[in-house]
Amino acid sequence: MKCEEVRPLLADMAGGVSDRAAEVEDHLGSCAACSAELGRYRATMLQLSALREDLAEPPAGAVERALAQVPAWRWRLLARRAMVDERVRYAALSLGGVVVGAVAFGLIRRRAARRDVSVAITGGRA
Ligand SMILES: [Zn+2]
Repeated sequence: MKCEEVRPLLADMAGGVSDRAAEVEDHLGSCAACSAELGRYRATMLQLSALREDLAEPPAGAVERALAQVPAWRWRLLARRAMVDERVRYAALSLGGVVVGAVAFGLIRRRAARRDVSVAITGGRA
């Protein structure tokens, strides 16, 4: 394989889902430039997953405080702009998705933690 063929496959390789992994590995063994590129993809993915962890565990009340700081007139303006501007609508939707996702993830984590506690208390006989 040539570098030009390998480069588009590196993102999948970094995610561990390439169906041409063997061919790509072959090329990486003899190409420092593509290996370095794969390293950059992996570093980026690590940063992204770290960012996701941050989003999943906001400090208690942080989201509410942040939302409360947006004055009402700005919400109205945002709502009006959302009607006409598709980009704002998407931004608002994705913000909503992040908040909902963070809350859902927090609930799941809390439920899992509670189960661990009850197992510890009952010795798993519950
Ligand atoms: Zn290469």
